[in-house]
Amino acid sequence: MTPPDTSFTPSANIAQLKESATIAVSQRAKALRAAGRQIIDLGAGEPDFDTPRVIRQAAQQAIDNGATRYTATEGILPLRTAIAAHATARRQRIIAADTITPAEVVVSTGSKQSLYNACFSLFGPADEVLIPTPSWTSYYEMVALARATAVPVHGCPSRGFKVTPAELAAHVSARTRGLILNSPVNPTGSVYSREEFRDLLACAREHNLWVISDEIYRRISYGAEAVSSLDVAESRDRLVVVDGVAKAYAMTGWRIGWTISTAPLAKAMTALQSHTTFSPASVSQSAALAALTGGPAIDATVTAMVAEFHTRRDAAMALLATEPKIRVNPPDGAFYLFIEAPGAGRIPDAGSVFAKRLLEECDVAVVPGAAFFTPDWIRISYAAELTQVELAVRRIIDAYRSA
Ligand code: PLP
Repeated sequence: MTPPDTSFTPSANIAQLKESATIAVSQRAKALRAAGRQIIDLGAGEPDFDTPRVIRQAAQQAIDNGATRYTATEGILPLRTAIAAHATARRQRIIAADTITPAEVVVSTGSKQSLYNACFSLFGPADEVLIPTPSWTSYYEMVALARATAVPVHGCPSRGFKVTPAELAAHVSARTRGLILNSPVNPTGSVYSREEFRDLLACAREHNLWVISDEIYRRISYGAEAVSSLDVAESRDRLVVVDGVAKAYAMTGWRIGWTISTAPLAKAMTALQSHTTFSPASVSQSAALAALTGGPAIDATVTAMVAEFHTRRDAAMALLATEPKIRVNPPDGAFYLFIEAPGAGRIPDAGSVFAKRLLEECDVAVVPGAAFFTPDWIRISYAAELTQVELAVRRIIDAYRSA
């Protein structure tokens, strides 16, 4: 009997799609663990804390109260109202007359879907989209899935890899339609200051660009509060703010994110979502509502979680400072450290070589910088227990010294 033919030719839609390198690393780490190795996983992009109890209880209650059916595609009104109220409170600190309405909010199955909704609705063939780089991989793939062209704008390591308006402007062409901003930045942990953010938005406005501002790590910052585009944008005409509950409330698995944009764009994204995933999970929406309306009790939990990240960051940075040859980007937010690999500039794809060695020989999983279009670097996540972070960083230093 001839064996079944299980081969397939990918369609043109996905022919160029690359697997997420972050996921590839964590799968390899899992495989090694299953084989009995004690791998310290610093590859993960999710808080290692439990979702706060009040939120879990609200979700259980919601199930018992019958929140088990489809909801409106764009999410339940109480959740959109809470999101709009939070955003309005921020916005009105600078523009008193600007009220964000629930009609401008679309809730989806994670901020990843929100970003995809925005990219797919705004960009198309012949459009170019500027992406400050190093950057999260998925922006590139989402822009490509929309058949637009991603244009990397590389930030200088000496400025924390942050881009300037002049660097953006140098990449603007007649085809440039959008800019994807992210602060605090994954993978560098850098945070744009109020002035820096304001100037980038002003530059985008000057060139008539749509700005998608991914603010998923905004609550996780260690200096002054990280700025939202809502705090500095002169106008919201061409602005899409993307946020969600995943990182701030340790709710990665609940899959709730949202966009705050204009009513016409929100309508278009709702139509798109109605044909892909439809309404986000009803129980998760109730949980997200509890997170946003939980008041000081929830805020205290978030503050405690951020304080723990802060302690780990300081501990890791103090250890790394013992080896002056190691170049590390000092982070002000998110939960990542970006470290230059040994042999950078000399060995091709030095970050991947180092990451492979760390995993296979030192039992430490990290993500190679190639995943973020900076192949000389590696990213470590300190979303792991302090003792594990310290142990892993010591191994990284030893591996660096013996490279
Ligand atoms: N944006 C950035 C920069 C991220 O790093 C991630 C997840 O790692 C996301 C968005 C997606 O978050 P969510 O879990 O809400 O889809």
